[in-house]
Amino acid sequence: MWVFAQSPLDRQSHLRASSEHLNGWRNHPDRNIIAFDKQQRILAAKSDPDSSPEALSFINLSEHIDNAELNENTLIFLGTYQDTPWFGYELDVFPQSLEQQAEWFEVWPNLGLLEEPFASILAYAKALLYWHQTHQFCGQCGGATHVKNGGHERQCGRCERMQYPRTDQAIIVATTFEDKLLLGRQKHWAEGQYSVLAGFVEPGESLEQAVQREVMEEAGIPVTDVQYLGSQPWPFPCSLMIGFTAKAEHMRTQLFDDELEEVLWISPQDYLDRIQAKTLRRPRTQSISGHLIKHWLASHQLQLP
Ligand SMILES: [Zn+2]
Repeated sequence: MWVFAQSPLDRQSHLRASSEHLNGWRNHPDRNIIAFDKQQRILAAKSDPDSSPEALSFINLSEHIDNAELNENTLIFLGTYQDTPWFGYELDVFPQSLEQQAEWFEVWPNLGLLEEPFASILAYAKALLYWHQTHQFCGQCGGATHVKNGGHERQCGRCERMQYPRTDQAIIVATTFEDKLLLGRQKHWAEGQYSVLAGFVEPGESLEQAVQREVMEEAGIPVTDVQYLGSQPWPFPCSLMIGFTAKAEHMRTQLFDDELEEVLWISPQDYLDRIQAKTLRRPRTQSISGHLIKHWLASHQLQLP
């Protein structure tokens, strides 16, 4: 299973609007608080400068900061796991008392250091906090908004309009023609980095239509037989990747815009040979794109080295 899709939390969505329940969770002696800064870095244990860390070890803010220093109103309730509540929190200032033991930790370049189930809780917290960060004001009247429902709503103080957390849906698709897979690369990617095609779903569009539009837009290829494979929350910053396979009607590629600098068709054996020769980078196996590629190789009785 891919990372970020295995949250063990009970979101308690039927109870979190009740202030009685919310207060119980907020005052729980063993509550867990995941802290982020404005750049969406997570507070984690300092790694040993002499060795590379094997896993991220998160710092539970609750154990290290005086309750008086926390703004309880902006504690974002995530859910409960093994009877303890989990919260996300944005810290304005790094707590001095933690200077020796903690540091801000960038999530994106360190995906390989995340372990489940914490990775999925982190992804959930990160996406929700990003939404709070970017919805401080009302889109209708410009008034300031405040946290409601344990952090799952915001309401405008002026016109009372409610806002709800958003997720940006994006499709990602393994397009094949006979045994060949379609890959593309963007200009700014590292040398040898290619991936299956992906793009955001547009308003008024079904997921299947988004798959067909994206492959046409990025590679000039009409596809049919669009099949759902699975989905992955992707907290960079708040997407849901929805994975598909699709069959191309032909192999004549055409680039219409400059989103991709190159698209190519590759056979399974060629793909593995190029990975071996290091002219192609291994796909990120934490992501659903890596799994789509693994799934395609497996359909030809092959696997990544
Ligand atoms: Zn308003």
